[in-house]
Amino acid sequence: MRHVLAAVLAAVSLPSIAGAQTAAPPASAPAPRQSEIGAAIVGDMDGLMALYRDLHANPELSGQEVNTAGKLARRLRAMKFDVTEKVGGTGVVAVMKNGSGPVLLIRADMDGLPVTEQTGLAFASKVRAKTAEGVDTGVMHACGHDTHMTAFIETAKLLSARKDQWKGTLVMILQPAEETGKGARAMLEDGLYNRFPRPTHAIAFHDAANLEAGKIGYTPGYALANVDSVDIVVKGVGGHGAYPQATKDPIVLGARIVTTLQTLVSREQDPQDPAVVTVGSFQAGTKHNIIPDEAKLQLTVRSYSDETRAKLIKGIERIARGEAIAAGIPDDRMPAVSVQDEFTPSTYNPPEFAEKMAAVLRGHFPQGQVVKTPAVMGGEDFGRYYRADKSIASFIFWVGGVPADQMAKAAAGQLSLPSLHSPFWAPEADKVVASASEAMTVLALDILKRD
Ligand SMILES: [Zn+2]
Ligand SMILES: [Zn+2]
Repeated sequence: MRHVLAAVLAAVSLPSIAGAQTAAPPASAPAPRQSEIGAAIVGDMDGLMALYRDLHANPELSGQEVNTAGKLARRLRAMKFDVTEKVGGTGVVAVMKNGSGPVLLIRADMDGLPVTEQTGLAFASKVRAKTAEGVDTGVMHACGHDTHMTAFIETAKLLSARKDQWKGTLVMILQPAEETGKGARAMLEDGLYNRFPRPTHAIAFHDAANLEAGKIGYTPGYALANVDSVDIVVKGVGGHGAYPQATKDPIVLGARIVTTLQTLVSREQDPQDPAVVTVGSFQAGTKHNIIPDEAKLQLTVRSYSDETRAKLIKGIERIARGEAIAAGIPDDRMPAVSVQDEFTPSTYNPPEFAEKMAAVLRGHFPQGQVVKTPAVMGGEDFGRYYRADKSIASFIFWVGGVPADQMAKAAAGQLSLPSLHSPFWAPEADKVVASASEAMTVLALDILKRD
């Protein structure tokens, strides 16, 4: 093995020495292939990165995206889109009609997260704001929605400048409040499919914290999960810690419920149909020697199909009640299980359309840039646009944001990568924006192609 390695090293080092002497690239290196659209994006990149840095430095929380929406709406108007603001809160709908043909919805989400940025970037966010619950917090584009908006604006620019290459209608939407699972629903309830042309197709992308910068990932079928927040209020009978016989201890009962919940996925769920039940919060009591009368649990519950979702929620209710009965809790003190309104439904890429879109991307980008990726247990409310009308051909894809050297170090176990929502998440934005803008434009030109 050592000999082989030495030979490889020699082969690698020779051309670079020759190149240094002649100050010319090695003759064997192929010229990087670049499409006309790719070249246009390279030409726009300085301006795009200025927009990206501005968006990154000025994030706004879910439902509060007033300035973000305003400045992007102005840009869309300048490109001659017919722009409507305040759709579903701060949402923006930009329509461009260009003859008869399909109606393509392209979506970007606008909200930042209640995260205090720690990337150390020169343009890091210093913004602070109050959440809907009144909590003062740092705000950061820790999910990369700033890359989504930047690529969205470039896609709008490229398509509006190429109206001779497509026909149909563009409905480009900037959506609020993705992170709370409320924005897509709010835009739909505010008449997105009635007040504006009803889409026949819908596309979007999300940046990825586990994929090399510029690579494109796609998942046919279920791509992202149903996300439910479930609260359990465990009721007991409080009293003195020294006299447990006179109480019903909700802490011990809560602990039993947490333990039994572990069997819901491991013993009741088909291993081929993934699900998650995580208890993320368990709060009870005030003092060493007092048995409280209540304990509160907060759960995140993930699934793909709606049948599995319903089964998990029923199982949680059954286990909470069953453990309470076993603990001798009186009938009128049974645990209260409530599914919170902050629900994000699973995102489904109809497989035939996903493969068709992937084939378009593979035909356009260099070999190896477009890869099939496994489904994830994260959530995205983009799935709602398809659920609201299942005749829509819908496709969400990933665009990697991890610098290649960090990807290599992580693969070698020398580095653990920050995830989306991490205060350290700093995607290689120019590569995300370049790949995403090109991919969105190429897909749009295919969906809206002239005969
Ligand atoms: Zn997010
Ligand atoms: Zn996101």
